Amino acid sequence: MLTTINPATEEPVGSAPDAGPDDIDAAVQAARAAFRESGWPQLAPKERARYLRALADEFEKRNDELGALVTMENGMALSVCGAFNGIGSATRYRYFAGLAESWDPEEVRDFPEAPSGPAKIKTIVRRQPAGVVGIIVPWNVPQGNVAVKLGAALAAGCTAVIKPSPETPLDSYFLAQAVTDAGIPPGVVNIVTGGDATGAALVAHPGIDMVAFTGSSAVGRKIAAACGGSLKRVTLELGGKSAGIVLEDADLDLFAATLGSCSVPYSGQSCRASTRILAPAARYDEVVDTVAGALAAMPVGDPLDPSTVIGPLVSAAQRNRVEGYIELGKGEGAKLALGGGRPKGLDRGYYVEPTVFSGVRNDMRIAREEIFGPVLVVIRYDNEEEAIAIANDSEYGLGGTVFTRDVEHGLDIARRVETGSIGVNFAGMAPNAPFGGVKSSGIGRESGPEGFEEYLTTKSIARRA
Ligand code: NAD
Repeated sequence: MLTTINPATEEPVGSAPDAGPDDIDAAVQAARAAFRESGWPQLAPKERARYLRALADEFEKRNDELGALVTMENGMALSVCGAFNGIGSATRYRYFAGLAESWDPEEVRDFPEAPSGPAKIKTIVRRQPAGVVGIIVPWNVPQGNVAVKLGAALAAGCTAVIKPSPETPLDSYFLAQAVTDAGIPPGVVNIVTGGDATGAALVAHPGIDMVAFTGSSAVGRKIAAACGGSLKRVTLELGGKSAGIVLEDADLDLFAATLGSCSVPYSGQSCRASTRILAPAARYDEVVDTVAGALAAMPVGDPLDPSTVIGPLVSAAQRNRVEGYIELGKGEGAKLALGGGRPKGLDRGYYVEPTVFSGVRNDMRIAREEIFGPVLVVIRYDNEEEAIAIANDSEYGLGGTVFTRDVEHGLDIARRVETGSIGVNFAGMAPNAPFGGVKSSGIGRESGPEGFEEYLTTKSIARRA
C-alpha cells in the first residue's frame, strides 16, 4: 500500500494500492482489448473530440476540489495548483479536441511518374494511432503531466494505462471518476497506482506499444534502454538546469516580477525553471540583490493559504536532497545571498527557505545539477557571447529565459540557446507550442501538433491509379 503524506503537516492524507505485475497485466489487457474491440481507434476524430471536451468539462467543474487535493498530496501552493492541474488540464484536453476536430487521418497522394513499369500509383497515407500507451508521470504537476499525454493519445485513437507517481496517487481517482463521467468507453483509460517497480513492469509489458514518460533523466535513461530492447516507441520529458539570461539593458523590476513563474514555480520543483541566473558583470551585484529581494518577498507557508507562494517540498527525501545541495554549494565556495536554512516558525512540514547563491561558477555542481527546490544560483558573465556559451555549457536543454528591453535582440539570443523552449521576458508555454528537451532533457515533444504526431504512425495503402 502507498501512503500519501501531506508535506505541510507530515500527516497521512490517504492511501492507494501498490500494484504488482498481475494488476499491470490486467490493465494492459483491458487497454489492448479496448484498442482492438471497442471501436475507439476507428471512431471519427470529431467523435473522440466530443469525449475530450466532456473530460475537460469535468476538470473545469471540479477545479477547486482537485486543486486542494493535489496541494495536500504534493504541497504545491493552492494559488497555482488548480491552474496547472484542473483548468490547465481542461485547456489541454480542449486543445487536443480542437486538433482532432480539424484532422483528416487520410491523405491521397498521386505519383504520376511510375518508378518502374507503366502504372501510376495512388497511395492512401493513413495516420493511425500508435496503439496502447503506457503513461508514467512524476508528482510535481500530476494531472497536468497526464493531460498533455492522455489528451494527445485519446485524440489520436490510442488507449492508455497510466502509472502516477507514488507520492501523488490520490488525484488519479479524480481522473478515473472524470473519465467515467465523461462517458469514455471502458478499457480506453486505465490507471494503476504503484511505485518504481510498477512503472518498470508497465514499460516491460509486451502489450504496451509506446511509453510516454515525464520524470528524471536517470529514470528516463533506464526507460529508453528498456524501450530500445523491446523496440517500443518512447517520448521522454526529463530534467533541466535552464538559464535565465539577464542582459545588460534588462528591466529588473519586470525580471523580479517574473521570477516566481520563471525560476521557482511549485517551490522550485519544476523541470523547466530557469535556475541558473546569468548576470552581466556590470550589474552583477544589482541582479543578486534583485533575485534575493524577490525570493525574500515570496510568502512561505501553508500551501492551502491562498497567499502562499512557496510551500513545502514534496517529501522528507526531497528536502534532504535540496539541503544536501545547499551544503554542497557552501563547500564549493559559493556565497549565500539569501536563505540556506529552514524557515523560522514552521516546525512541521518539509520546508526549505528560498535560497540564492552568488559567486557561482558554471563548473560548480550546484550550477550543473538539477536541485529541484527553491534554490537559485547567480553566475557572472562578461559579454553576451560568454552568456550564450555558459547557457549552452550544460548537460540539459529544456527551458530558459532572456530578459531585455530589446525584445528583437532577446529573440536573437533565444535562437542561439540550445534548448527545447525559451521565453523572452516571460516563462509561459501555450498548449499549441511543442514542449520538450534537447540533450539529457529528453526525446520527443508534447503539446502542439508535434506532440499529437508522437501518438501516430502511418500506413501507406497503394493501388494503381
Ligand atoms: P522519477 O524519475 O524518480 O519518477 C518519475 C516516475 O517514474 C514515477 O512515477 C516513478 O514511480 C516512475 N519510475 C521510477 N523508476 C522507474 C523505472 N525504472 N521504470 C518505469 N518507471 C519508473 O522523477 P520524480 O522524482 O518523480 O520527479 C522529478 C523529476 O521529474 C525531475 O528530474 C524533473 O526535472 C522531472 N520532470 C520533468 C518534466 C518535463 O516535462 N521535462 C516535468 C516534471 C518533472
